[in-house]
Amino acid sequence: MIGEAEARMRILKKITPLPERTVPLSTALGCFSARNITAGLPLPAFDNSAMDGYAVVASSCSKGGRLRVIGEQPAGPDRQLCVHHGEAVRIFTGAPLPKGADAIVMQEDVTREGNEIRLNVDVEAGDFVRRRGCDLAEDQKILAKGERFHAATLALLASQGFVEVSIGGEPTAGVISTGDELVDLGEKIGPGQIYDSNSVLLNALLQRCCAGAKLVEHCRDDRESLTGAIKRGIKNQVLIISGGVSVGEHDLVKEALRELGGEIEIWRVSIKPGKPFLFGKIDECLIFGLPGNPVSAFVTFLQFVRPAILKMMGATNLDLPQLPAKLAVDLTNEGDRAHYIRGKLEQGTFTPVGRQESHALFGLSRSNALLRLDLGQSLKADEIVDVEIWNW
Ligand code: AMP
Ligand code: MG
Repeated sequence: MIGEAEARMRILKKITPLPERTVPLSTALGCFSARNITAGLPLPAFDNSAMDGYAVVASSCSKGGRLRVIGEQPAGPDRQLCVHHGEAVRIFTGAPLPKGADAIVMQEDVTREGNEIRLNVDVEAGDFVRRRGCDLAEDQKILAKGERFHAATLALLASQGFVEVSIGGEPTAGVISTGDELVDLGEKIGPGQIYDSNSVLLNALLQRCCAGAKLVEHCRDDRESLTGAIKRGIKNQVLIISGGVSVGEHDLVKEALRELGGEIEIWRVSIKPGKPFLFGKIDECLIFGLPGNPVSAFVTFLQFVRPAILKMMGATNLDLPQLPAKLAVDLTNEGDRAHYIRGKLEQGTFTPVGRQESHALFGLSRSNALLRLDLGQSLKADEIVDVEIWNW
């Protein structure tokens, strides 16, 4: 059995990021940038009005004073108007600032009287003017290589006129769930049988990494069924097998992998839940064997499979997001492995939820964060701890 950090390091060492590719901007959501991106255009690109109102020369304005309206500038093409002392241009949000103007008076702060306005406020230079480049300067860094494209990043790149972006590769993945007790969804369940929930879990977690499963199969606990499924599964770059990696006579994944010429790099890691975790390779396909208990499959996916997939996709940060939280209860790890406690982070407080056992799917479903308790670690209620957010 090896430690968790060593297991992760050994897995990541085996992985090289996939080749980058160019995709339409709108399809890059959740992917990782393959390039450093800098701004080609300042934002805003020109001085413009932040309000519907009047563009004025601030030094010619005082409360109660009058200005002559000499024209109108809507958002759109610059009409090349020029404002002098004693004059105003009717203007709208986003419209280019006319030459000579240095402030906008909101329409709510004037009284319009025919061709004139009376000012009901004092005006200062810069009022409600958005200056060129005040948000983003030309050549400013927008996104570093390996950072994720979020909705707002895509919007920022669109504002820069990007049509396409370069992203890291997306691995193809397969999921095999093993077990004679498993019944596929839609089938009738009999005594001693359970529905295969891990296929759904693992496919959903893969989708959260932006790499949905290309193949999802259920196979029986026999060598033939297993080797057949694995042969089909290794056509992908990543194959996740749930169940059958423990020490029982029906845990045949290891033997099946060996029979197919696979190398087993890791078997058994010192974490709870998830001890029987396996990592290996057949040809170019990375194999992750996750324990069948749903919470074990969940934790080992997040701690080992997710970082591996993110690295393949070109991500820089492979960790789950972390947040500080106040602990609601005392917690001690008396076991012999690091323990991932499932809990809910709510209003800054982390409370363990449900039974902390590896089959307990209900508690997991109510959780949103994991707290890692190291070997022998003891924490007191009200202590501030870092928790990993899994519904990132
Ligand atoms: P195993 O790792 O195959 O020894 O399975 C450990 C436990 O996880 C057993 O209680 C299995 O019934 C359960 N289990 C295995 N595979 C699945 C699955 N795909 N969905 C739900 N539970 C599973
Ligand atoms: Mg099994």
